[in-house]
Amino acid sequence: MSHSAVDIIRAKRDGRELTDDEIRWFLHGYTDGVVADEQASALLMAVVFRGLSPRELATWTDQMIRTGERLDLSSVDRPTVDKHSTGGVGDKISLPLCPLVAACGAAVPQLSGRGLGHTGGTLDKLETIPGFRTGLSAQEFVDQLRDIGAVICAAGADLAPADRKLYALRDVTGTIEAVPLIASSIMSKKIAEGTDGLVLDVKVGSGAFMKQLGAARDLAQTMVGLGEAHGVRTVALITGMDTPLGLTVGNALEVRESVEVLEGGGPPDVVEVTLALAQEMLALAGIDADPAAALRDGRAMDAWRRMVRAQGGDPDAPLPTAPLVEELRADVGGPVTSVDALKVGEAAWRLGAGRARKEHPVSPGAGVVLRVVPGDIVSRGAVIAELHADDAAHMEAGRAAITGAIRLGEAPAHLPPRVRERIAADRD
Ligand code: URA
Repeated sequence: MSHSAVDIIRAKRDGRELTDDEIRWFLHGYTDGVVADEQASALLMAVVFRGLSPRELATWTDQMIRTGERLDLSSVDRPTVDKHSTGGVGDKISLPLCPLVAACGAAVPQLSGRGLGHTGGTLDKLETIPGFRTGLSAQEFVDQLRDIGAVICAAGADLAPADRKLYALRDVTGTIEAVPLIASSIMSKKIAEGTDGLVLDVKVGSGAFMKQLGAARDLAQTMVGLGEAHGVRTVALITGMDTPLGLTVGNALEVRESVEVLEGGGPPDVVEVTLALAQEMLALAGIDADPAAALRDGRAMDAWRRMVRAQGGDPDAPLPTAPLVEELRADVGGPVTSVDALKVGEAAWRLGAGRARKEHPVSPGAGVVLRVVPGDIVSRGAVIAELHADDAAHMEAGRAAITGAIRLGEAPAHLPPRVRERIAADRD
């Protein structure tokens, strides 16, 4: 049945619950160009203020999926399980995690995105590996999943196309930060991807969308509910994002650190989150394996090398580096009180590692290397970070943005673990 976009906008504006048919009509109409950008913007803003009831959210997500195709992974003979992060600074976990879980016997069908704003994108990182292709056909995707069990590539245009349009619109209309919109956006893509199981890494803290634990919990519970309602076994971990993850923020810099993790080293917090997510993924896949052993004995590294080669990359080629490197020194001695994730993320972005608009290129070598973490004791004049940039203008912008990011002087009162909470469905 046909509806009026204006009537639907007015209804949500005034707090009335939308019918299933109104939601279906609006989302398909927007995807097909019948509903205009300004009308979709108005409805999104009404949803930010009025929210969606559980029934509206279930229908909204379902209809977003139905604007495109749902991939069929039934020809993959291993259990499929994926991971999604709500986005953070220095969050390179997908890179070691995907081959690690594949090395333990599952198949990880990871369709990923690019970075926008201060959070980096997995595809931008992988594309710094010489030759690496992120644009695979559906057949290549399934073949690689069957052969290697690990694939990370860009989502095709037919995967939840409503989200592709809505996400771009939300980005420029101040309508990103709303639990039902974030939850339906993420879950429509992950459900359409065809995975049997999904582990969500919901970030909380200064460098995340969700600044408070209560909001992160609400988002995690909402997404777990949506996944389970669509037959995808879903678990969420809430992990801290007040401090960048690991010591590197920037595309090639983060690949380098991920390879260190795959070699059995790497920063303890990156290893902690990688193993915690791997354990949850393997449990959902029904596989009894020790991911720490697969990191130690080189099986995860073998899977990484096979994945990189299968996607045209050379795992032995040197990674790009930025020509300018500047050191940041401590102006006082003492303990490192905090390292602000948002500020470091913004600095890396200004140095050239991120993009302001989705069509902008990123610098492969630019970013920040931290030399300290909260709780370390430094002496006056010690190097606390390095800034990497392609030119003087980016270096200057990055230097300005990182001011005040690393606070020194008092020991931190409390250093919480990265993994804060686990949220799962009640399956009895
Ligand atoms: N990531 C998404 O894919 N969608 C959102 O709305 C937020 C983060």
